[in-house]
Amino acid sequence: GAGAREAQAATDTHCPYCALQCAMTLTPNPAARPGDRPTLTVTPRQFPTNRGGLCQKGWTSATVLTAPDRLTTPLVRDTKGGELRPAGWDEALDLVAGRLGALRAERGADSVAVFGSGGLTNEKAYALGKFARVALGTSQIDYNGRFCMSSAAAAGNRAFGLDRGLPFPVTDLDTSDVVVLVGANPAETMPPLMGHLSHPRLVVVDPRRTATAEAALAAGGIHLAPAPGTDLALALGLLHLALVDGYLDTERRRAYRERRTTGWDAVRRSVASWWPERVERLTGVAVADMRQAVHALATARRAHILTGRGAEQHAKGVDTVAAWINLALALGLPGRPGSGYGCLTGQGNGQGGREHGQKADQLPGYRSISDDAARAHVAGVWGVDPASLPGPGRSATELLQALGTQGGPAALLVFGSNPVVSAPRSGQVAERLAALDLLVVADFVLSETARMADVVLPVAQWAEESGTMTNLEGRVLRRRRAQLPPEGVRTDLEVLAGLATRLGRPAEDFPTDPDEVLAELRRASAGGIADYSGVEVERLEAGEALHWPVPAAGTGTGSTGSTGSTEGAEGTEGAEGAGGGGVHPGTPRLFLDRFAHPDGRARFLVVEHRDAAELPDAEHPLYATTGRLLQHYQSGAQTRRVPELAAAAPEAFVEVHPDTARRAGLAEGAHARVVSRRGATLARVRYVESMRLDTVFLPFHFPGEQAANALTNPALDPVSRMPEFKVSAVRLEPAGPP
Ligand code: SF4
Repeated sequence: GAGAREAQAATDTHCPYCALQCAMTLTPNPAARPGDRPTLTVTPRQFPTNRGGLCQKGWTSATVLTAPDRLTTPLVRDTKGGELRPAGWDEALDLVAGRLGALRAERGADSVAVFGSGGLTNEKAYALGKFARVALGTSQIDYNGRFCMSSAAAAGNRAFGLDRGLPFPVTDLDTSDVVVLVGANPAETMPPLMGHLSHPRLVVVDPRRTATAEAALAAGGIHLAPAPGTDLALALGLLHLALVDGYLDTERRRAYRERRTTGWDAVRRSVASWWPERVERLTGVAVADMRQAVHALATARRAHILTGRGAEQHAKGVDTVAAWINLALALGLPGRPGSGYGCLTGQGNGQGGREHGQKADQLPGYRSISDDAARAHVAGVWGVDPASLPGPGRSATELLQALGTQGGPAALLVFGSNPVVSAPRSGQVAERLAALDLLVVADFVLSETARMADVVLPVAQWAEESGTMTNLEGRVLRRRRAQLPPEGVRTDLEVLAGLATRLGRPAEDFPTDPDEVLAELRRASAGGIADYSGVEVERLEAGEALHWPVPAAGTGTGSTGSTGSTEGAEGTEGAEGAGGGGVHPGTPRLFLDRFAHPDGRARFLVVEHRDAAELPDAEHPLYATTGRLLQHYQSGAQTRRVPELAAAAPEAFVEVHPDTARRAGLAEGAHARVVSRRGATLARVRYVESMRLDTVFLPFHFPGEQAANALTNPALDPVSRMPEFKVSAVRLEPAGPP
């Protein structure tokens, strides 16, 4: 049949994990036994971002498709505390729709909530937002991207009037002379990116001497290791030094600030008090090291400042990113060919995931849900009354905290996420999920969150369905189906359609063909910030490098004030120019002529350092910070099921300076209990000489008693609603033999 035919061909697609979206080809192997599904072999493919490279996660990504505990039938729990039992699709969907409908009627539409993911394709993210607003009528939808890029998104929107992770192609980094990486560890999290960082001198800002910091030091670069929660102060100090050491006084930089920015005078005054000795006392970074970094950055011909989760995951994440953007603007980097500021997106579709309406405050096209014109446009595409669209809902952390409380949602639908492992203060998240009337989880295995569900819906994986993803440089990519899902498994789009029709929506409102969804998404995004209206499947199939905005032919460049550029992108060159009703070539580089604010200028923002939401004290004397490992992705629901990855990184550990460990009575390899004010976790002790004496590090990929997020602080940034994953106060205790 069709499945067998499809299984013969090699399929070009992209990695299921991170935002680099490395290109790969999937080739079917003959089935081991008749009737078995063929396994797939992964071969890296040439593409501008990965240039034929893959990391260990990418190489082994096909293994997840044949995970032995893959679900192929819906599961239903008849009574709280009872067991999950297999059920048919009709029974499961009837049950879910029936209970959601009843809750809605009894307690109002906001009694039902939806939790999405930055791993979903553009089409699924779009359909999920529409499903929540139209089929459920709820305002209560947000997604796990709130935990990773919301601070840089908010800072980018404020400074530039537009947020696209990298406003230039990754390949621009190849010719940069100095790249500052703030709280980003690509040597572990996206290794092929390091191929673009071999020429520039690297300045790595990270409390830990990460693999990236090691690489920088080995190549003559610089590592600045501020205390957790002080990188905002470090940015203020670097700007102060750039100013007093005379680097900002050049003709070119003065002209840039005058013509292309506003607000410099206020920022210049605000950094006056951040003299280097004060910054050294607060951050622990030596003045001489700061000076060296400023000199390198300010004298480089071409330079970039890139921020990652380390800058963002703070209760002051937006201000921290803004402080680094101020430094970039003072030096005249953003919008200058060959230089710039960017944010390294983490999740595979972290970029697209925040553009199509699964965010609590947004509609498709990266539009505000509070904007009347946006509501009217999107309601028109959806064929509903704009007044029927709900307003903004709770952000991810607040949504999870409200579950099962008086006035909070009583039901939650989770797609592509595992918040029991990945959300801050995970112990409390589990309590809130347990307090729900109804938890529905769509996943491919019994993730830690799915285990708690009343209904589990088995869904297809990346290589079993088509769709588009938007990578870290805002380039829209085609994910292609390499094989059919196992029998009994449905796609997320089919699940949403099945529920929507049962909730009374016409079937044509929720198409199950991803290309049909893309066609509708294009119309919904038209004229918005992230304008996809010119993203035609045929153009993607032809290999065109379509970086958004890509307005449809003849519609101009939308409201982004961006400049289409035809130079430099590998792959098919775009057509000349955007005017005259011709085909728009896409926008590899933003801000070359103007920024996206109405006046065309970027905005300096006055920001001040403030302490982390909690600081070490006598009872919890150490900072704990968390991050990722080479072998694992996010909550580990996928990568912990890949034998090679699980063998290489099987368990949680805590990196600690030997002196600090000994003081707590902990030998190398011993099991430690790490205790914060919110919970405790078990981790094997790793002595790491380069650690700061006041800081420990834990990877967050492990569940249950090894969950690093049992410790983390749900204190939120006031603007982005990002939790403070990167700073908690902890103590270490011996936990006895393993
Ligand atoms: Fe590339 Fe990221 Fe996949 Fe690794 S996880 S292969 S870096 S896309």
